[in-house]
Amino acid sequence: MFCLTVLFVTNTQAAPPIAVVATLPVLKDLAEAVGKEHVRVSSLISGLESEHTYTPKPSDLITIQKAKVLFQIGLDLELWVRPLIQNADRPDLPLITTSREVKVIETGAADDHGHGAANPHIWLDPQNVKVMIGHILKGLIAADPDHRQDYEKNASDYIRALENLEKELKTKVGRLKDKKIITHHPAWPYFAQRFGFDIRSNILMQIGSAPSAKKLGVLIRQIKEEGIRVIVSEPQLNQKIPSILAEETGATVVPLSPLTGAISGTDHYLDLMRYNIETLAAALEKP
Ligand SMILES: [Zn+2]
Repeated sequence: MFCLTVLFVTNTQAAPPIAVVATLPVLKDLAEAVGKEHVRVSSLISGLESEHTYTPKPSDLITIQKAKVLFQIGLDLELWVRPLIQNADRPDLPLITTSREVKVIETGAADDHGHGAANPHIWLDPQNVKVMIGHILKGLIAADPDHRQDYEKNASDYIRALENLEKELKTKVGRLKDKKIITHHPAWPYFAQRFGFDIRSNILMQIGSAPSAKKLGVLIRQIKEEGIRVIVSEPQLNQKIPSILAEETGATVVPLSPLTGAISGTDHYLDLMRYNIETLAAALEKP
């Protein structure tokens, strides 16, 4: 009896969590949802930076050197990730692209700010997150086959929670009469497509470039002519232009985040989606 007890205790203590790296905080949250106590996940980008801005820290190389698996979005959003893996001398590190098999929205042209020919902000549609969870599940099972059953159970629990939330949020949006919005940068087409919002224009087409006076004039006229009442701003970007547009037109600025953790209470993806939909719906509902 005594021997069995010792054996049991030794076994549970023998498996420390595996080191997992994600490029974005939203991938970190999804990897933690599937991995739970079996993983320790680090995100290279924090929620306060734009998803297009990566500032390498010396500790990132060490993080990658210790990792068992790395999750990225792909679609040219994280062009810096392969050089980073090279610098960390980890050609063997499994790099899992979670956008595989997602039906992408084409943007028309690539730019040098992480917008390739396909729009990379796939995670703002919960249906795409189901596909992403599938890739994360496979990646964790390959890195740590001993906990396969736990990973499978966590993934299916998460997908159920995702489906319930989507249903609830769709009902909320379905009641809205006005669904017209202007967005800060083209982060929201998957979100708009899934929930039925009508993006009339974007303030920025590229991160890091300010719109010209002419473009501002065009936006102001469009907002007035089309009766657009809501301008979506993002906490990761400069707030000046959205507030100028609001002053000139009487529209309301509504801060929504494409990334988890930038707005208080949105550390988890499910909370982020709820926050984004509820905040936007409340602004559009106002008489
Ligand atoms: Zn973007």
